[in-house]
Amino acid sequence: MDWPPTCRAAVFHGPGQPLTQEEIPLPRTLEPGTALVRITMSTICGSDLHTIDGRRTEPSPLILGHEIAGIVAGLGEGLDCDYDDQPLAVGDRVTWSIAASCGDCFYCEHDLPQKCLVLKKYGHTALQEAPQLTGGYAEYAVLFPGTAIFRLPDTLADAVAAPANCALATVAHLYESVGGVQSGECVLVQGAGMLGQYLVPLLLEAGAGSVVVADLNEARLQMAQRFGADHTFNLSGQPVARVLRCVRELTNGRGADVAFEVCGHPGVMAWGVEALRIGGRYGVAGLVTPGAKFELDGNTLTRKCLTLTGVHNYAPRHLHDGLAFLEATHARYPYEALVGAEFSLDEIGAAIDEARSGRHLRVAVRP
Ligand SMILES: [Zn+2]
Ligand SMILES: [Zn+2]
Repeated sequence: MDWPPTCRAAVFHGPGQPLTQEEIPLPRTLEPGTALVRITMSTICGSDLHTIDGRRTEPSPLILGHEIAGIVAGLGEGLDCDYDDQPLAVGDRVTWSIAASCGDCFYCEHDLPQKCLVLKKYGHTALQEAPQLTGGYAEYAVLFPGTAIFRLPDTLADAVAAPANCALATVAHLYESVGGVQSGECVLVQGAGMLGQYLVPLLLEAGAGSVVVADLNEARLQMAQRFGADHTFNLSGQPVARVLRCVRELTNGRGADVAFEVCGHPGVMAWGVEALRIGGRYGVAGLVTPGAKFELDGNTLTRKCLTLTGVHNYAPRHLHDGLAFLEATHARYPYEALVGAEFSLDEIGAAIDEARSGRHLRVAVRP
C-alpha cells in the first residue's frame, strides 16, 4: 500500500455554496475489481457548473468532476487488464469511462450502458456512498468495478486526455448516432463549446465537404477556425438567415446533410431543422437541463423525411474511439489550447469562477 491514509477533496454541499476542502480517508485495502488512481488533472465540465449553480440537481455532499486523468496507485484483486485487454499496472497513466455499468440489465443489453439501471457515475455519486472518492476534484479517485479503464500514451498530455472522457466520447457517440458523415457532406454545427470544437476535426477527418459553425462567442468561433472550420458565424452580430444562405449556397440549394445541436439552447432546433436538406440527419446532444422546450413544425419533420436523434453520454467504445482519434490526430489539431487555465485543488473556487466566466472552453484543476 503506497498511499497516504487520507487525501484532500473539494466537496460540493449544495447550489450557491462554495466547495469546501476536506480530508477523506483512502481505503486501506482495495475491493476486488476496483482501482485507486492518483489524479493528475481534472477539467471542469459545463455540467459541473450546472450542478454548482443549481440548474440541475445532484445528491450532496458530493465530489464533482468526471473528466479525469491520473496514475494507477493500486489495483484490487482480479483487475489486471485495461479495456483493450492489455496489462494494467501500478504507475500506468489512465483515464476511464464516465460511468460503470452492470452489463446485464435491460439497458446494458440494449447498447445503452450509460443508462444502466444500477449505473455508478463519477462526479455524481454522493460522498456517503462507498467508495466515497468518485469525483475528480480530489487527490485520489477509487474506480468502481466494471469501469472501462484506458491507458494513456505518453503523446497525449493530461490537458488533451482529461476532457476526452466526457466531451470527446459524447461527440464520438453523437457522430455515430447520425450514421457518421459521408465524404463531401455539408455539416452545420450549432455551438462552438467543447462538443462543437471536437466535432470539427472529427468531421474534417471523415471527409466532410464543408463544416459550418455558429455560436455567439467570437473567441470560440476563432478556436473553431483554428481547428479548420470552413465557415463560422457569430449570431450575436448576424442573423440566422446568413447561416441558412451559406448552407444553401454550399449545397446547390438543398440544405445541410447533417446538423448538430451542441449549444444547449433549445431555440436553435427550429432553424437547425430549416437548414437541413430533405433526408437530413439531426443529432442533439446539448439539451442536458430540464425544461429545454422547443417548437418544431412536425409537418417539416415528416415532409423532409428527417432523422432526429438524441444522445446523452456514451458507451465505453466511444471513449475508446475518441482516444484513438486523439492519438492519431493530436499533432494536427490544437487540442491542448482547449484548456485555457490551470489551478491547484486549493484554488478550486477561483477555478470554478474562471470556468463560469466563459473565457475558456475548459479550466483544469491539478491536485
Ligand atoms: Zn461532462
Ligand atoms: Zn446495467
